[in-house]
Amino acid sequence: MSIWTNLRITLLKWNDRLNFVEKFIIFILLVTFLFPLTLPNSYHFGYVEIQPPKLLCPHKQFDLHKNAYGYFNNSEQLAAVNNGGQYSNHCDSKHKQRVAIIVPFRNRTEHLKIFLQHMHSFLIKQNQIDYQIFIIEQADDKPFNRANLLNIGFQESIGLDHKIDCFIFHDVDILPMNIEQTYSCTKLPKHLCSYLDKFRFVLIYPTLFGGAITISAEQFRQVNGYSNLYSGWGGEDDDFYQRVQHQFGLIERYPSDVARCIMIKHGHDGPSNVERQKLLADVLGRMSIDGLSTLNQTYVRKSIESYPLYTKIRAELN
Ligand code: UDP
Ligand code: MN
Repeated sequence: MSIWTNLRITLLKWNDRLNFVEKFIIFILLVTFLFPLTLPNSYHFGYVEIQPPKLLCPHKQFDLHKNAYGYFNNSEQLAAVNNGGQYSNHCDSKHKQRVAIIVPFRNRTEHLKIFLQHMHSFLIKQNQIDYQIFIIEQADDKPFNRANLLNIGFQESIGLDHKIDCFIFHDVDILPMNIEQTYSCTKLPKHLCSYLDKFRFVLIYPTLFGGAITISAEQFRQVNGYSNLYSGWGGEDDDFYQRVQHQFGLIERYPSDVARCIMIKHGHDGPSNVERQKLLADVLGRMSIDGLSTLNQTYVRKSIESYPLYTKIRAELN
C-alpha cells in the first residue's frame, strides 16, 4: 500500500470519529498556524518591514561626533544650514525629495536646542534630501494639541514653499541614532524611530504611529490630515494610524536594528486627553469632516519668524 493510500485511510477514520465541533476546531487551528507561513517575511500585523533606501551620496569627509548622551553636534555641518533652517544637498539625483520637517512645540527650549543640532548634523551627513525645519509653537495656554499643530505645520509650510512633496512629522525629544535610518518618504506612510531606548528598543505595540513619521504631501491630503479634536496628551497618533490604514492598508517600518532612537528624558507636561476613547470609537466616521478640511476654523496664525537653524510659526488655537 502506498503512503498516500495509508494517509487517506487514516484521514477517513478520523473523519468518522470526530464530531463537527472537533473538526471545526482543528480547521481553525490549522488556518491560524499555517496562514502566516504563506506571508512574506517582511509582513507583520499592521505594518510591513522595509529596507531603508540606500543613501546616494552621504558626506564622507566627516564623521558624526556623539557626546556622552549620544547627541550629535557637528559644528562644521551646522554652518551649511541656510537661514530659516533650510538645507539643499548637492547630490545629483533626479528624484531628490523636498521635505518639510514639522515639529510641534511649546515650552521645550532645552529639547529644541539639542534637537536642532542633532538633526541638522544627522540629515546633512545623510545628504539625501532638501529639507527645512519648521517649529510650530502653540501660542496659548489651552491644553496642548499636537495633531492640530501638525496640520497647521503642513498648511503653513506648503504656503511658504509649494514644492514640498514629503513631510516628516517629528517630536522635539526624539533623536535618530543610526545613519542607516534614511529620512525620506517611501512608498507608504512610514513610522520612524519605532525602537526607542526608553522602551529598551522594543516596539511597544504593532500599530504604534507616534513620535516620528514620514508621509507624502499627496497621501496626507488623501486622509484629510490629522484630526484637530485631540486636546491634551494621547490618542491623536492612533486616530491617524486608523486613517492611514483605512486608505492605504499598511504602514511601513525599518528593521529593529535600524529604526533606533533616543528619547530625551522628560516628565508629563500637561493633562491627558480623557475624551480620547470616545473619539477613537468613530475615527472613520469623522475622517472627512475633521482635519485639513476644517483646519482654518481652528487657529489664528500669529507670526512666522526665521532663525539660523529653523523657521518658527506661532499659532493660537481657537
Ligand atoms: N510637546 C511640547 N510641549 C508640550 C507637550 C508636547 O512641545 O507641552 C511636543 C513635543 O514636540 C513633544 C511632543 O509634543 O516631543 C509629544 O509630547 P510628549 O513628549 O509629552 O509625549 P510622550 O513622549 O509622552 O508621548
Ligand atoms: Mn516625548
